[in-house]
Amino acid sequence: MERYYSFSRYLRELFGERVYRVTVDAGFTCPNRDGTKGRGGCVYCLSGSGYDRQKRQMSVEEQISSGIERVGKRYGAKKFLVYFQAYTNTYASPDLLKGIYDRVRKFPQVVGLIVGTRPDCVPDDTLELINSYTDDYLVWIEYGLESSHFKSLRWMNRGHGVSDFIDAVLRTKRFPKIRVCAHVILGLPTEDREDMLETADLLASLGIDGVKLHPLHVLKGTELERIYRREPFKLLTEEEYADLVVDFIERLPQKTVVQRITGEAPEELLVAPGWCSHKEKHRVINLIRKRFEERDTWQGAKCRFYREKIDRT
Ligand code: SF4
Repeated sequence: MERYYSFSRYLRELFGERVYRVTVDAGFTCPNRDGTKGRGGCVYCLSGSGYDRQKRQMSVEEQISSGIERVGKRYGAKKFLVYFQAYTNTYASPDLLKGIYDRVRKFPQVVGLIVGTRPDCVPDDTLELINSYTDDYLVWIEYGLESSHFKSLRWMNRGHGVSDFIDAVLRTKRFPKIRVCAHVILGLPTEDREDMLETADLLASLGIDGVKLHPLHVLKGTELERIYRREPFKLLTEEEYADLVVDFIERLPQKTVVQRITGEAPEELLVAPGWCSHKEKHRVINLIRKRFEERDTWQGAKCRFYREKIDRT
């Protein structure tokens, strides 16, 4: 029995089979790097959070086609979501964006689009464009919130406020077929446990459709590495993180799709903590699942908003 509403279950319910993501770097930049919103980017950001620099040398079509081939061979997959992941994937005019997003139309195996972006980079005409794909595709937009506390956003040099996120979510909800996901980082040194859980409450109060959770981890070559080496701060242990994830998910509505419960990086890029390396991913996921069992609790058990009956089957 699953104690939280996973993305794989959601996709299976929707499409009747497993659906896989193919990630794409469409060559965007970021307003928090080029001076429009800020310079240097978010302190933890390495290459717009995409590690595969080779992708930039390939066209969007080449990336989709090689992704479909690779994932198709590995898992026998037949349906795919194209995930525009690297940097800020709405940072261009609607005309330019249309030219990029439209490339998914060449691939009949693609059943959905996921657009990752910042909450301060989605003007209404961009949302209208994204909404136009909902006639043919499942469409998710992912907003980097990271925290519901301005002190943390400032510490991370996010270059936007909590109000930008709320505004983006409310404007996106005018298009009911676009699904909205929020990225959250747990373990920021600016926050205690209650601060982190307040972020869950904010998302629950907004009736968010999806959440991706990540533990704060330090990557080589980032501003965060410099901060960490200069003045080391406490990072969560895996046990602390597992408990926090359970606490967090308990506060979310049952309908919220939990798209990710941990975050990891290639070992050669990771400074700390060691349990955030790729090879530890499944162990950490299992640890979180075990904590759900040990505590005999579920997603929504402590949700104060959008409360629904808990289905224990
Ligand atoms: S908004 Fe995203 S791409 Fe831009 S600096 Fe922050 S993490 Fe990197």
